[in-house]
Amino acid sequence: MARKPIIAGNWKMNLTLKKAVSFVQEVKDKIPANSKIDTVIGSPALFLASLADARKGTDLKLSAQNSYWENEGAFTGENSPYAIVDLDVEYVIIGHSERREYFHETDQEINKKAKAIIKNDLTPIICCGETIETFEAGKTAEWVEGQITAALKDLTSGQVANLIIAYEPIWAIGTGKSATAKIADTTCGVVRSTVEKLYGKDIAEKVRIQYGGSVKPENIAEYMSKENIDGALVGGASLKVDSFLALLDFAR
Ligand code: 13P
Repeated sequence: MARKPIIAGNWKMNLTLKKAVSFVQEVKDKIPANSKIDTVIGSPALFLASLADARKGTDLKLSAQNSYWENEGAFTGENSPYAIVDLDVEYVIIGHSERREYFHETDQEINKKAKAIIKNDLTPIICCGETIETFEAGKTAEWVEGQITAALKDLTSGQVANLIIAYEPIWAIGTGKSATAKIADTTCGVVRSTVEKLYGKDIAEKVRIQYGGSVKPENIAEYMSKENIDGALVGGASLKVDSFLALLDFAR
């Protein structure tokens, strides 16, 4: 079954409002049609309202990089999924290894976030991935399986069919040392078989799985040619207009 490719930039904590808006103004009419590929920018929450305005009427989609699991209340500094969807944003990245490591997010919290995001009609991009120690110990498969099983707990099959999972080995993030396409495909295959174990083959065939970790215009086509890889989650190479647009070339 053909799954629609999804290429998402994750800007992390970079750019300013002015730079972000001018980026979107430059790229918005140059991206492939939505019917071919989903193109997403994961922006700091501070810019999302302006970016939603800037891309109006185009096929460019937007993602937050995190959200809380409650819609409102006394949670100083957090971002509500209910307020995010109200901005006209489509996706929320959750469980990024930087949030797990620096902000101590747990699998249970990521599961709560996934549920809240889906309830608000947003699509979660759920990240998983192992450390270099786990990779070298040959324990990647069981680690990723554990993360995905915990993140999806109590979700229905209909909900899982529509979400995105991103496999990002921590040792390949921002290091320039990308996983080989073979390793990336194998672990994305582990993600898919985990979904199959939990929800059956039909759902596993539908869920879209991205690879992330030093993806660049020069290596994206090789990843995208792999059976289990349906897209990419891209940090550094999504920060410059030329390189962001070049990432989409494989689909032209
Ligand atoms: P890099 O593409 O900079 O390695 O970052 C990957 C990433 O963490 C995307 O979420």
